[in-house]
Amino acid sequence: MCCLYGDESRSEMDNVMTNELANLELTPAQMTAMGEAVLTRVVANLAAVSETPSRGDYTDIEALCRSMREDAPEKGVALEPLLDQLFNEWIPRSFTTTGPGYLAYIPGGGVYTAALADFISDATNRYTGVWQGAPALVQLEANVLDWARDWMCFPPTTRGLFTTGGSMAMFNAIACAREKLLGDDIRSGTLYVSSQSHHSIVKAAKLAGIAHDRVRTIGVDEDFRMRVDELEREIAVDRQAGLRPFMVFSTAGTTNTGAVDPINGVADIAAREGLWHHVDGAYGGFFYMVPELRPLLSGLPRADSLTLDPHKALFLPYGTGLLLVRDGEALRALHSSTAGYLPDNQNEFYDPAQYGPELSRGFPGLRVWLTLKIFGAERYRAALKEKRDLAVWAAEQVARIPGVVMDASPQLSIFAFHIEGNGLETIEAQNTATESLMNRVTDRGQFMLSGAMAGERYLGRVVVLSFRTRRSQMEICVQQLAEETATLLVEAAER
Ligand SMILES: *Cc1c(COP(=O)(O)O)cnc(C)c1O
Repeated sequence: MCCLYGDESRSEMDNVMTNELANLELTPAQMTAMGEAVLTRVVANLAAVSETPSRGDYTDIEALCRSMREDAPEKGVALEPLLDQLFNEWIPRSFTTTGPGYLAYIPGGGVYTAALADFISDATNRYTGVWQGAPALVQLEANVLDWARDWMCFPPTTRGLFTTGGSMAMFNAIACAREKLLGDDIRSGTLYVSSQSHHSIVKAAKLAGIAHDRVRTIGVDEDFRMRVDELEREIAVDRQAGLRPFMVFSTAGTTNTGAVDPINGVADIAAREGLWHHVDGAYGGFFYMVPELRPLLSGLPRADSLTLDPHKALFLPYGTGLLLVRDGEALRALHSSTAGYLPDNQNEFYDPAQYGPELSRGFPGLRVWLTLKIFGAERYRAALKEKRDLAVWAAEQVARIPGVVMDASPQLSIFAFHIEGNGLETIEAQNTATESLMNRVTDRGQFMLSGAMAGERYLGRVVVLSFRTRRSQMEICVQQLAEETATLLVEAAER
């Protein structure tokens, strides 16, 4: 009896120990088959990207999303049917941000090599939060940060941080400046942006404890560049009110029109007034890699900190942002911490957790490192130069289309315009017509264009920043803009 009981208990235990349900491991053959299934789909998706509608199919999209709500799966299913749904039904119902015709918002494309790096990162799953977890891998990330520092001509004191995007880079920069310049006296600090600054800055300021009523919005000139005289006046007004101006943002390429603020002018004031000068180069910063284009971003290396978005102008996948801080020790002072269960901090090597807010994290450095190693910086410079040349060429053509008024010629690779004509006398009518132009070209399928409000005016925009966008596409885009503008003008005149 006793023995029997004992045996039963042992066999129950054996069952637990060998329960196949608990085994999440795949065999090498399964891993290979699944990997190949995914690779086949991905390569087919990318091979067809030029023919894929630039704005996907949005018919009944809300109904689709509602129908997709589901309970957590209790039983597992096979990979193939899931891939069918992803690649045939869900991925096509989105903006084709990878395509050569995606000229809306800020494109990038998403280079393939980055996906290979992510696959390696995720499959090997090494711990890059602290240096000791994977010293050589962390060194690769440190190398990339140093490359970015050198391309931007920042000094050796600079330290950087990979973030998930420009917004989080901004957040860390504001926290850093706040800590260094305001200490505990946060409420008296004031921060300056322009009316064309990206909205993520005000959001990041709030996250970093700088309330909306401490953010000043400076006006812009007719080229959408921050007015330095107005900045100077606002700083003086705040000082007189007993406040502590501590930070100013200039933008190296605004999202709306691609305007580059007078970085040197802002840097002069920041130096005189003791402000932290952050340059938002999320869209335009990487153009500084190209020596011939540096005069367009003159003064950029004078920034105290700089936002870069490798997921825009390095053509990497979303989730890749970057912050550079001239005073690397200030970045470390904000983030550095210790814990009894972690290895002691060391000083020689870059240690991600000492320079950023995260502990456990992905490994964004590898996708940048592998991609740059494979292509080399020279091909990146060539691609960036080409995108700017294409924008300059296309803007010249578009400016010649009857009815088009060019509001912003490309300072980098964005241009913005509106249309005027008989029957389009009011700004409201021009706004409606210009918006309609963007929509009509987009509805044709090959291109996706978007617009932006700048003050009272709706501007049509063309942004050339996908590595896949080449001359042949830009020629067709110009032609479609000309055709649709002509149609719109006839319709407006007849109304
Ligand atoms: C895209 C952009 C941002 C925001 O960056 P995210 O990576 O989208 O968070 C900020 N500033 C400018 C100028 C941008 O173009």
